Amino acid sequence: MRRSPHGTGDGLRPASEPDGERDSLQRFLFEKAHVRGELVRLDEAWREVLRRRDYPPSVREVLGDLMAACALLAATLKIQGGELVLQIQGGGPVTLLVVECRADLTLRATARFEPDLAGLEERATLRALTAGGQCAITIDPGPGRQAYQGVVSLRGATAAEALEEYMARSEQIETRFWLAADGQRAAGLLLQRLPDHGGKATADADDDLWNRVTVLGHTLTREELLELPGRDILRRLFHDEELRVFESLPVRFACRCSRETVAGIIRMVGREEVEAVLAERGSIEIACEFCAVGYTFDREQALTALADRSASTPPPATSSG
Ligand SMILES: [Zn+2]
Repeated sequence: MRRSPHGTGDGLRPASEPDGERDSLQRFLFEKAHVRGELVRLDEAWREVLRRRDYPPSVREVLGDLMAACALLAATLKIQGGELVLQIQGGGPVTLLVVECRADLTLRATARFEPDLAGLEERATLRALTAGGQCAITIDPGPGRQAYQGVVSLRGATAAEALEEYMARSEQIETRFWLAADGQRAAGLLLQRLPDHGGKATADADDDLWNRVTVLGHTLTREELLELPGRDILRRLFHDEELRVFESLPVRFACRCSRETVAGIIRMVGREEVEAVLAERGSIEIACEFCAVGYTFDREQALTALADRSASTPPPATSSG
């Protein structure tokens, strides 16, 4: 049994909760129309992110929204053995948000933000935090296959609105997201109207279903999304619909940084700057932005890293510190 330190007084959380509900992704289909859905709940996977970096509440909530969304998207877009990278570049107090989800539903997430977030509300929207900016989704289907990236400018106020717009403009798929995060959990619901080969929605046996289920989705409160087990959410929202619910899939945090990827960053920084840091400090210390693990390269190791031309390029969000 596990009780959340918050929200227990409102009666939403059951006294006990099966393990299968935590850190899981649940797919479902509506039988009467070409509409599919997914629910995701990140518990330990999300707390692993929060344990490694200290995020102000507003940044934390948006990053949690995006982490839930990334898992939902990775399960709908074809990433085969590869990964999906959701990246938002902002011109505001938050300059970068990155979430990655691999085909096995392992996730990692990070954000870059100005030290001073004074003046922002505790629950500031994505738009307020990033002051415009761009949303890019990269689908890398794995070795030997072509990666694909779609980019849209951010117009929606929230992460859900931004991603709905991304899916409509870049993928031509009508999608609705409901996302929420706090200090304990991140959760999301996705509904998607499946296109036919021509890109338009196919004729459904029940052509009102999409409107009906999205209206129902809007009745879901933030608290319900964060607190209720997935099957209770489905029952609460869609008890009158014929649903096919698939077995839930486990989701977890995992970082895949290594000395090799960090050696790649040293190469990217270049000899001049590396020599300058070595002259000043005697070694190079780099921390992974996703998992906060530190890597130290002494002079000899740094010079070896610089000389190694055979290695691959590093992921985008790792910085020297
Ligand atoms: Zn790492």
